[in-house]
Amino acid sequence: MARLPWRVAKLVEIRQETATARTLVFQIPGWPGHLAGQHVDVRLTAPDGYSTERSYSVAAPEQGDRVELTVELVSGGEVSPYLLEILEVGDEVEIRGPVGGWFVWRPDHTAPVLLVAGGSGVVPLMAMIRARRAAGSSAPFRLIYSVREPDQRFYLDELANPDPGLDIAYLFTRKAPDGWARPPGRITQADLTGASTDIDSYVCGPTGFVEAAADHLIALGHAPDRIRTERFGPTGG
Ligand SMILES: Cc1cc2nc3c(=O)[nH]c(=O)nc-3n(C[C@H](O)[C@H](O)[C@H](O)COP(=O)(O)OP(=O)(O)OC[C@H]3O[C@@H](n4cnc5c(N)ncnc54)[C@H](O)[C@@H]3O)c2cc1C
Repeated sequence: MARLPWRVAKLVEIRQETATARTLVFQIPGWPGHLAGQHVDVRLTAPDGYSTERSYSVAAPEQGDRVELTVELVSGGEVSPYLLEILEVGDEVEIRGPVGGWFVWRPDHTAPVLLVAGGSGVVPLMAMIRARRAAGSSAPFRLIYSVREPDQRFYLDELANPDPGLDIAYLFTRKAPDGWARPPGRITQADLTGASTDIDSYVCGPTGFVEAAADHLIALGHAPDRIRTERFGPTGG
């Protein structure tokens, strides 16, 4: 396969998602398009020539030469603080992609879908939700979204009025809203019951979260080959 070229990407819009996460919209001339679920590599190069790169999922379906990423701050990190605190509208980075062909949802896919997100792992799953809306798809979607605390949820306004056929359940691991029935805690098998096992699942988040959720799904009788996973471990280096 030919190597993907690096392309110049200009930051054209910033949207604050939470106190520590932003959506960055880039304009990339010549962008070949992408599928919901794919990711890109972002490369930063310092004036002395030192360069470093990290992977970021695309947060929205194909929209011409615009590519949206949502980045969560990893404090003490090399790249995420730069993207969130230094990069300004009009600045440029380099982006290569799209990458990945397995963790994708295609709009012609009609089977019911279970999306399981841990933290910033919601990003490629949001691209799938938005792709479903853009295509006018009626494939049943269910999102189970685990975060530490209520104010860490991305895309809160957009998900407050879910599209028809999209069901959303939030799980809180450290602090739940007052009166929330489920006590705070990590994802359990009980959180994933209720859905038919005849579905396609997409699980994304930190490695430990993804492994726990996938194990629960398998224990509930989901076929391993219908569980697609994406781990947001450290990249680059
Ligand atoms: C396929 C893929 C898609 C990704 N998509 C996204 C995305 O959409 N949004 C997003 O915010 N991030 C995403 N990530 C994570 C991202 O690539 C970086 O790892 C993250 O932004 C941290 O980079 P950094 O340079 O700031 O930290 P680094 O300088 O790389 O690391 C600083 C410290 O933090 C630790 N660390 C690094 N990354 C993580 C992490 N993800 N979780 C916990 N500890 C970490 C390191 O081990 C190190 O100790 C994705 C990763 C992968 C593999």
